[in-house]
Amino acid sequence: MPTTAETFVASTHRLFIGGRWEDGRAGERIDVEDPSTGERIASVVAGGAEDIDRAVNAAQRALDDPHRTGWSPADRTRLIWALADAIDAHADELAEIETLDVGKPLRNSRNIDIPGAAAALRYFSGWATKIGGETMPVSIPGDWHAYTVREAVGVVGQIIPWNYPLMGAVTKMAPALAAGCSIVLKPAEQTPLSALRMGQLIESVGFPSGTVNIVTGHGRSAGAALVQHPGVAKISFTGSTATGKGIVRAASETIKRVTVELGGKSPVIVFPDADLEKAAVAIAQGIFLNSGQTCSAGSHLFVHRAVAEPLVAAICDIAREMRLGPGMDIQTQLGPLVSAQHLEKVLGFVEQGRRDGATIAIGGLRRGDRGYFVEPTVLTGTRPGMSVVDEEIFGPVLCVSIFDETDLDAIAEKANATVYGLAAYVWTRDVRIAHGLVRRLKAGSIRVNAGGGGDFAMPVGGYKQSGFGRENGRLGVEAYTELKSVMMAV
Ligand code: ADP
Repeated sequence: MPTTAETFVASTHRLFIGGRWEDGRAGERIDVEDPSTGERIASVVAGGAEDIDRAVNAAQRALDDPHRTGWSPADRTRLIWALADAIDAHADELAEIETLDVGKPLRNSRNIDIPGAAAALRYFSGWATKIGGETMPVSIPGDWHAYTVREAVGVVGQIIPWNYPLMGAVTKMAPALAAGCSIVLKPAEQTPLSALRMGQLIESVGFPSGTVNIVTGHGRSAGAALVQHPGVAKISFTGSTATGKGIVRAASETIKRVTVELGGKSPVIVFPDADLEKAAVAIAQGIFLNSGQTCSAGSHLFVHRAVAEPLVAAICDIAREMRLGPGMDIQTQLGPLVSAQHLEKVLGFVEQGRRDGATIAIGGLRRGDRGYFVEPTVLTGTRPGMSVVDEEIFGPVLCVSIFDETDLDAIAEKANATVYGLAAYVWTRDVRIAHGLVRRLKAGSIRVNAGGGGDFAMPVGGYKQSGFGRENGRLGVEAYTELKSVMMAV
């Protein structure tokens, strides 16, 4: 007997446009595969420019509908919360869909991705009734009633990557819905299934038709059409820096509002006084969880020479013990990479690192010849100029550099020597060092004595080429609004 998730995966998938499930105009489809076997498990519509146009028009109609009921701020709070409840009610099924599609361990999908998606919706649901303007005391002559109004920015295009498909979809959708926008969501072509299942849940909880539209398809066609569409007021994109640059350029044609959360090469700086046992666990989890396919993963360890040997040994011990296997096996701690193409890219980085003189302390190899499994890998003796250090690998590969300095400016200079600036991690018990480095590090999110995992109240986003704009918190909701300034002579 197939599980509910398997039945959904094997069903016929369509586009969700204007509250209806529709076929794509061009009739093309994209195969979806299980990364643990490389086998095709489903196919989805390869949406094109016409489908995007229909979806944008449906989204605009939803915004313009003067008779639309059920979209007051309180209605939106209730609907967003109801979607969280629906996700909870289908958590096992959604977790299985996510694991079949991305390959990630079922225990992660069940304990992180799906509850995280529900939590994001609940966090943002409350903002729908709390986003407003201000009244201002103005000093120019006359009597004035001066105030600001925050209005929904309009139709938003949201383009998401494949590493956390449901969480990625929801953390973009929830603030936009709270702000009153309507959405055209373009999931990643590798991992579209959980978003489509969520579309059914959106339908079942009663969102007004056209408020959320889901168009599956390739980035170069569906994604590009969304970025170019003149009816889209804002693009929110998460993905690679290379793709992000093209999106920022294309969006500038129609002066769209843009939020881009891009790649990272986040430093983890460990001082001799740190709790090394705790640090080793957090560092290993940070880079190996989700097989390193996490934008904010701490992927470059800077460790003081005094503790380098025991720390690296402890991380390698954890890596050695990790169970690599198919995500559907409940014992699995590390799943496959998402695709053959990505496997090749990650193994290519490791091979180049070896040729450049890095030492493979552990891992470095593909496991088996079926599916896209890569061993958890630690590279020591890495230095700037090597591609493994300068570029984002997005795989279970930790680069290690040793430092001797005590001067915080010198340490921060090394850690900041990257085009990225998404996250940074500092391990020390010395508050002077902790605060000193927090000031000096160029990164959107900094953790002291802790690994990854966040809270939706805390804004995230990049410095430098890791992007611009912030998601989460009040700022994340305001990013989906226009500010109107009104002065009325009284
Ligand atoms: P990756 O290279 O790992 O697949 P990308 O950053 O290219 O990551 O993809 C992230 C998302 O961006 C996906 O949904 C993808 O379809 C989309 N995308 C890719 N290229 C474009 C593009 N030119 N315009 C709009 N979206 C794109």
